[in-house]
Amino acid sequence: MFYGQIEGTRFEPLEPEFNNLLIGHARVERLWTGARWSEGPTWFPAGRYLVWSDIPNNRMLRWDETDGSVSVFRNPSNYSNGNTTDHHGRLVSCEHGARRVTRTEHDGSITVIADRYQGKRLNSPNDVVVKSDGSIWFTDPTYGIMIDYEGGRAESEIGACYVYRVDPDTAEVMAVATDFMKPNGLAFSPDEKYLYVADTGRSHDPDGPAHIRRFSLSGDGKTLSGGEVLADSTAGLFDGFRLDEDGRIWTSAADGVHCLEPGGNLIGKIAIPELVANVCFGGARKNRLFIAGTTSLYSAYLAVIGPV
Ligand code: MG
Repeated sequence: MFYGQIEGTRFEPLEPEFNNLLIGHARVERLWTGARWSEGPTWFPAGRYLVWSDIPNNRMLRWDETDGSVSVFRNPSNYSNGNTTDHHGRLVSCEHGARRVTRTEHDGSITVIADRYQGKRLNSPNDVVVKSDGSIWFTDPTYGIMIDYEGGRAESEIGACYVYRVDPDTAEVMAVATDFMKPNGLAFSPDEKYLYVADTGRSHDPDGPAHIRRFSLSGDGKTLSGGEVLADSTAGLFDGFRLDEDGRIWTSAADGVHCLEPGGNLIGKIAIPELVANVCFGGARKNRLFIAGTTSLYSAYLAVIGPV
């Protein structure tokens, strides 16, 4: 393990409060390199490992905290993209190639969570999060069916890009937000009163959005209202993101990780010398931010933890 300074990495406070989230002598570590496009990191506390997607290589990788080794977790992965760990410790994945969301059960079998909406095939599920009631929420832009690099070229059967909720009791797939160009990363606030969703429409339209919106959940936690723009990206796109215990947003961007306070103001950055696509909190104390940055997996210890 190399603990020296990685060129191009640094902590960049923009507001004094960001310093309170940092550990004075901590550095950004590069844990591994060798991917084409890293996405969807998710932490497994019981096994002390992290799984993430290398989308163009059609594989998922596993970084083992016990010895720092990286191995191939799944190949082919159906061009998996976003992943999350549900409240029972199971892997939930978005698969561009199979155009579905799946769960890997404790016995290793794979359950299809969603592959159609109103009888039509999904586009290419991108990112996923599980609410405390067991409902599974995911975004469905067209990145995996536009070209053959991260999936397979195909027409959109739905003809639009929605955010969906899968009911934990009935397995019904419901569209909960339908006014996005390219819905992408998503995460709940720690109290689950809000759902944040990124729109990366600017990737294929210079006038398109590059922002994160905030929705309020209804009393029964099943539907959304509001959806105001919380923050526009100042560097490329906001792709995947996670919230910390205090509701700050740690989001991917073109120049690294941006930290937004709950009101949406940018308070600091972690500069990374590659495009960052997604992050997650992990480690035994949940105080380690894992960063999926194009070819590499990075991490940084912070003075703040992920949601408990
Ligand atoms: Mg994404």
